[in-house]
Amino acid sequence: MILHVKKNAPLQELKDFYQATSFTSDTYEVLVTSSSIKSYDEKHADFILFSQAFSSDIQLASSEYMNALRDVKIGNEILIGGESKNTLMITGPCSVESEEQIEMSAKYCIEQGIKVLRAGCYKPRTSPYTFQGLGQKGLILLARMRDKYGLKIITEAKDSSHIDEVIEYSDIIQIGAKAMYDHGILKACAKSRKPILLKRGFGSTLQEFVQSAEFILSGGNPNVILCERGIRTFETKTRFTLDLCGVAYLKEHTNLPIILDPSHAMGYRYGVADLARACIAMGVDGLLIETHPDPSVAKSDASQQLNFEQFDALHKSLKPIASAIGMHLI
Ligand code: PEP
Ligand code: MN
Repeated sequence: MILHVKKNAPLQELKDFYQATSFTSDTYEVLVTSSSIKSYDEKHADFILFSQAFSSDIQLASSEYMNALRDVKIGNEILIGGESKNTLMITGPCSVESEEQIEMSAKYCIEQGIKVLRAGCYKPRTSPYTFQGLGQKGLILLARMRDKYGLKIITEAKDSSHIDEVIEYSDIIQIGAKAMYDHGILKACAKSRKPILLKRGFGSTLQEFVQSAEFILSGGNPNVILCERGIRTFETKTRFTLDLCGVAYLKEHTNLPIILDPSHAMGYRYGVADLARACIAMGVDGLLIETHPDPSVAKSDASQQLNFEQFDALHKSLKPIASAIGMHLI
C-alpha cells in the first residue's frame, strides 16, 4: 500500500507500525508498505492524505498509481518520458579500452548528433580470464570526454565496491543485468538523484525486474529507467532473446521510461539493425547500441558491436520509423 502522509505525522511510529519504507516529497511523506497490507488503521486517519492498495509489490512503478509516464532528465537539456515523445539514442563501445578508442567514439557521437556516450569500466565478465575493464582509469577518461565534447556519460556498476565512484563520474548510472539484485547498488542508487538505467537480469521475471526498480523508487530516487536487454530462453542460436512482449507489458503496467538494448540481446552484429528498428517501432524511450571504432579488436563483446559505417546506416533508417509513430529521435 502507498500512503501519502502529512509532514507533521509521527513518521517513525507509522513506519514501525506498517513496516514501511518512506521518502519525502515536496508536500507530504510517502510511505510504502508490503502490498499484503490493504488498509490503514483508523487511528492514523488524521495523518493520511491518500492511500492506495495494490495486488502485488509493483506499487510506485505501477501505472495504477501514476498513469502518466514519468519523465527523467539527464542533465539540464535532455528529457525522456513524460510528454516528451523523445527516443534517446545512446551509443559507444562495450568497454573503455584506451584514450584513443574512447575519443574516437566520443567524436563519432558528436558527428552523429548523439548526446550520450556509453562505455563500461567495470565489466561483469563471465570468465575471470578476460578483460575486466579499466576501472577508475576508465571513469577518468569518460569524464574527460564529457568535459571536452559536452557529452553525457552512461557507465555501469557491477557491484557495490565501486558504486560511489560510478555515481560520481556518470550522468546516468547503468546497473548491469547481473547486478539487478545487488542491494548495495540499489540502495546507493536510491540515495542519489541521478538517472538510473536498470537492466533486467537475464533470468529475471518482469515482476522481479520491476521490484528491483521499486527499491530505488522507494528509497526516494524517482529517476529510474528500465532496460530490456534480452533474457535467457531455450534458444542458443542468438545470445539472448529480446523480450518485446515484456516491453509491451512494461509500457502498459508501469510508469517508467524504457530503453532497449538489442546489442546484448542479439549478440551478433548481423541482427542488431533489424532489432533496433523493431524497438523504435514500439515507441520506446531510448535505444542503446554498442559501437566500436574497430569491432574486430574489441576487448569485450566484439561479435555484436557495430562499426561506425554500420551504425551510420542504421541511425539514418531509424529516423523515419520514429517520426512515423510520432516520436523524435534525439
Ligand atoms: C553492457 O552494457 O556492456 C553489459 C555488460 O550489459 P549487460 O549488463 O546487459 O550484460
Ligand atoms: Mn557489452
